Amino acid sequence: MKIKTEQISFPFLNDKQIHLSIKRLDKTHKYISGNKWFKLKYNLLEAKRQKARTILTFGGAFSNHIAATAFLGKKEGFNTIGIIRGEEYNPLNPTLSFAKKQGMKLNYINRYNYKLKNTDNYLDELKNEFENIYLIPEGGTNRLAIKGTAEIINDNDQHDYVCCAVGTGGTIAGIINSSHENQKILGFPIINGHNILQKEIEKFTNKNCWKLINKYHCGGYAKLSDKLINTINTFYEMFQIPLDGIYTGKMVLGVLDLIKKDYFPKGSTILLIHTGGIQGNIGLNKRFGLKLPTS
Ligand SMILES: *Cc1c(COP(=O)(O)O)cnc(C)c1O
Repeated sequence: MKIKTEQISFPFLNDKQIHLSIKRLDKTHKYISGNKWFKLKYNLLEAKRQKARTILTFGGAFSNHIAATAFLGKKEGFNTIGIIRGEEYNPLNPTLSFAKKQGMKLNYINRYNYKLKNTDNYLDELKNEFENIYLIPEGGTNRLAIKGTAEIINDNDQHDYVCCAVGTGGTIAGIINSSHENQKILGFPIINGHNILQKEIEKFTNKNCWKLINKYHCGGYAKLSDKLINTINTFYEMFQIPLDGIYTGKMVLGVLDLIKKDYFPKGSTILLIHTGGIQGNIGLNKRFGLKLPTS
């Protein structure tokens, strides 16, 4: 897949002598954030190889992974089941209503049981309850996902720094694995769970050219700050590039702040990975009465 990279030309970047660009994975499809497509690619091939009929996965009510699995699962001829954290709210929010329209069966479980979801017992129970299923963990992160996310950057991406938002760590792990010598990969966690994430990512890579920067999560998952909202709106006004409030907005907020603080040496080239997630803004706008861009 050919993915476009665009230059970002804030005037202050000239003074700082920083070359900034953004790789638009978000352009692939409105409801499948770019990185989720990469994460599902080899998992769906494996599900076919195993002759599975149904894909079962997990997520929160605003999960881009749930939306992507519902859409791609249907496209590839699978039944899909989404185990959703929390209670059912009617009407369904835009993410879940989209998933349901794709034919995904939604099962709600309470937060306590949701925490048990990765235990063997619970997974065995699910396998007994549903026939011929292929399980994908929350956020879609497993070995095959990382084989897919390793394809996000390639030989054309020779920037000194590559930056991305970090949820479960699968996306950055793939990017780290395919990074070049001398390239540095910076991850911006969107939750306050730095230490756990560090270990998660180390499971999938033995390189050490990367770092997590934990200062820009704005208080946690789907928590927004005024600075974050401003960054997203400014970015949209100046470049017509939509950022989402949960992931990419926080990464861009962080990178711009680090540039202002001279974190990067003069002359650096920086590549932002736009991992998509714009469908999430529809829900955030409803919930907080905002006008974040939705396309
Ligand atoms: C899921 C997601 C991420 C995080 O990906 P992980 O592999 O879980 O770290 C980043 N950006 C967007 C838009 C996402 O939907």
